[in-house]
Amino acid sequence: MELNIVCIPGDGIGPEIVKEAKKVLNRVAERYGHQMKYTDILMGGASIDVHGVPLTEEAVATAKAADAVLMGSIGGDTTTSPWYQLPPHLRPEAGLLGIRKALNLFANLRPAVLYGELADACPLKKEISAQGFDMLIMRELTGGLYFGERKTVEENGIRKAVDTLTYDETEIRRIAVKGFTIAMKRKKKVTSVDKANVLDSSRLWRSVVEEVAKDYPEVELEHMLVDNCAMQLVKNPAQFDVILTENMFGDILSDEASMVTGSIGMLASASLNDTKFGLYEPSHGSAPDIAGKDIANPIATVLSAAMMLRYSFDLDKEADAVEAAVQEVLKDGCRTVDIMSAGCRQVSCSGMGTLLAERIR
Ligand code: NAD
Repeated sequence: MELNIVCIPGDGIGPEIVKEAKKVLNRVAERYGHQMKYTDILMGGASIDVHGVPLTEEAVATAKAADAVLMGSIGGDTTTSPWYQLPPHLRPEAGLLGIRKALNLFANLRPAVLYGELADACPLKKEISAQGFDMLIMRELTGGLYFGERKTVEENGIRKAVDTLTYDETEIRRIAVKGFTIAMKRKKKVTSVDKANVLDSSRLWRSVVEEVAKDYPEVELEHMLVDNCAMQLVKNPAQFDVILTENMFGDILSDEASMVTGSIGMLASASLNDTKFGLYEPSHGSAPDIAGKDIANPIATVLSAAMMLRYSFDLDKEADAVEAAVQEVLKDGCRTVDIMSAGCRQVSCSGMGTLLAERIR
């Protein structure tokens, strides 16, 4: 199979971690008989330096023509970088918002996995972390409170602000379909999270999710109120497989879920549209404090590349091989500095990439 991938190395540690992800993908291609075709585009600060804008129309067109996009991270030190002297629409992050919009990426996926070998980094009690967890938060990304009408007015000398939370059934249906489709590739359980005891938008959410569920009889569906879900994530995270939720709830819950893993350098993510196309990137930023030192952890980017194989190319076996390589390297006690612990062997960013590539079977 030919995989036509656009890469956005970006800024800071971005180029270093994307290079290692490519190393692993190239080994996958060798082992499984695929051809990787990479095209790099500039985004964020790297694009500002060359073109004066964080994202050009040509870059968007190149991304649109690909099967998937693999990104490192963008942005610099927000207090010292000259990029942050520019007006907001010309700063690095505007490039990311621009590409998400241009590619209509409405579904955000963030897995939160606790690796047994890294259990010490988990801030939860030992009896909870000992069970491990492997969940995926599926968050609606382009609707809801963050995109509704908003205004601030003054009435009778009192300032008043209004934000509007709107969802229509089409927006709910398309994210629900994504959630159930992905649950079919996992443990076949969807927990739909809402606030249906209070909000009309949540009651519509619940009823549309139930309609969609009828097309996926193998998937177990449960509904959970968002306040309960926030508690369950720290009380019993092992119960979850796919958590399906709207934009603001997903924003908060995905950060909570990722923090309970304790390791920022391990967290992958994907943003998908209604085709197989997706943008895959680590959840962390460009870490300007460690850029160029060959010490960044490339695993989040490598795991994002595994998600790309699974969700954009349906190459489940290949994705499993990448995830197994990560498990194996951790089991062997190899660690980048951010996840280093006593008795383990410290390796560089490029060293970790090489070890992972070597273990692709
Ligand atoms: P950050 O995630 O870049 O860094 C936070 C801390 O985690 C730093 O100490 C960093 O060294 C460490 N860290 C992050 N990734 C690591 C890795 N792979 N290996 C080892 N250590 C790692 O967050 P920040 O410092 O708040 O942001 C830096 C820049 O990144 C800002 O410009 C911000 O806007 C941008 N950012 C970009 C994205 C993105 O591209 N999607 C996401 C978040 C932040």
